[in-house]
Amino acid sequence: IAIPPFKNEPFIDFTQPQSAKAMEEAIAKAKADLGREYPLHIGPEKRFTDDKIVSVNPGDLDMVVGYVSKADRELAEEAMQAALAAFESWKKVPAAERAQYLLRAAKLMRERKLEFSAVMVLEAGKNYAEADVETAEAIDFLEFYAREMIRLDSINETMPLVQLAGETNRLRYIPLGVGIIIPPWNFPNAICVGMTAAAIVAGNTVLLKPASTTPVMAHKFVELMEEVGLPAGVLNFVPGSGAEIGDYLTSHPKTRFISFTGSKDVGLHISELAAKTAEGQIWIKRLVAEMGGKDGIVVDETADLDAAAQAIVTSAFGFQGQKCSAGSRAIIVESVYDAAVEKIIRLTNKLQIGLPERNFPIGPVIDKSSYEKIMGYIEIGKTEGKLLTGGGKAGGNGYYIQPTVFADVDAKARIMKEEIFGPVLAICKAKDYREAIAVYNDTEYGLTGSFFSQDDERIAEALETMHCGNLYINRKCTGAMVGAHPFGGFNMSGTDSKAGGYDYLLLFTQAKATSVRK
Ligand code: GLU
Repeated sequence: IAIPPFKNEPFIDFTQPQSAKAMEEAIAKAKADLGREYPLHIGPEKRFTDDKIVSVNPGDLDMVVGYVSKADRELAEEAMQAALAAFESWKKVPAAERAQYLLRAAKLMRERKLEFSAVMVLEAGKNYAEADVETAEAIDFLEFYAREMIRLDSINETMPLVQLAGETNRLRYIPLGVGIIIPPWNFPNAICVGMTAAAIVAGNTVLLKPASTTPVMAHKFVELMEEVGLPAGVLNFVPGSGAEIGDYLTSHPKTRFISFTGSKDVGLHISELAAKTAEGQIWIKRLVAEMGGKDGIVVDETADLDAAAQAIVTSAFGFQGQKCSAGSRAIIVESVYDAAVEKIIRLTNKLQIGLPERNFPIGPVIDKSSYEKIMGYIEIGKTEGKLLTGGGKAGGNGYYIQPTVFADVDAKARIMKEEIFGPVLAICKAKDYREAIAVYNDTEYGLTGSFFSQDDERIAEALETMHCGNLYINRKCTGAMVGAHPFGGFNMSGTDSKAGGYDYLLLFTQAKATSVRK
């Protein structure tokens, strides 16, 4: 059957009362599952362990979302063996058939969108729109990678090799082996689904080690793949601590690749472990790592200041700034600096803080250690810039922090350089757009950036000189769309893997060229 062309999943408009009501109902329903116990998935088996991750609602600390079984090394080893065994048959399943599992999962997730989003509201502290956009992105990844696998599989027909006289020359993308998938908590549906689905559809089998703050969301996806009949052992679910099973699996001689999204520190640690050759290992492990960002928005004097201020506030404070794409820096030229800052503050002060399930624009940050780290940076900020709004904790039975803006921050200040991963914006003044771009580029990261200007020549210059994986002109620097904005960054932001783009699946395959003479 012909598959229709890829199209992004539309977003739900929660200003419509019936949509908001449907979400409230979905959240009420999700609450019926609160406190449920979740197993590991190892091959066909489900294992409950005594040692559990307690997943707590960051916006309401008395609410336990679920108790998730934790793997130790022995169980991780069993899961590795299950994945190795399953790889022998899964790699032989035709690509088009593998793609069907993703398409079926996309269909079911689309039918149960609010059910998936509701879990994120409770477990990750997302408001309705942030959760919905993410579920839409998860569906997009499933749809996109299914089509991509079919395209890759047919590449030899569409782009044949040179056929030398007397030879039949072909190229085929074949899978790698067993991969370890380590997704982040900040997109516990979309990025978890995208990373896992891409590896699987390419013919690999995986061990999914979910983020310890959002394992219930990840389990929901594992259940979905089970529901669509994915063969046992292709997707194994092994929650657990990084130090115990993360390191063990990364160092394992049978691990063929590691796909990681998370912090720079953890990414570099994995990179180091993966680079060592274990006894019996017969390959160089492949590492796909998407790490942090210190993204920024540059505004020149020709820019539409209202649009720029809105983009700055949305990019800085969407999901409490907990995105590696978050615009935590704004660099504004001096002639419009005061006007822009005033607009930014006005918009920031409108943001109300409160319970995600009641759909407040600003919710909690993910956990205690994030909360403490962010509060520490706010204290640093008080010594480095002028605090214009926020600057402390907010009320509520959770990790609530006020959206915080520091102005007149020096280009070299720590809050201009270090990733905070929270609702903190640093604003810096530049003499002109060139200086502003230089400040923007003065970072070890290189994930997203925006340039606001109405001058075509400057836009052309910014497109050349702003050094990042995802550069946007006259729009926010968050919210990359699958298929439209292949996502991934330069330098310490990672391996520039371009999730949601045409190069992504290649990372989970190896190309085999054959030449046959008769
Ligand atoms: N893809 C997301 C965006 O463009 C960010 C992903 C992340 O924070 O890891 O906003």
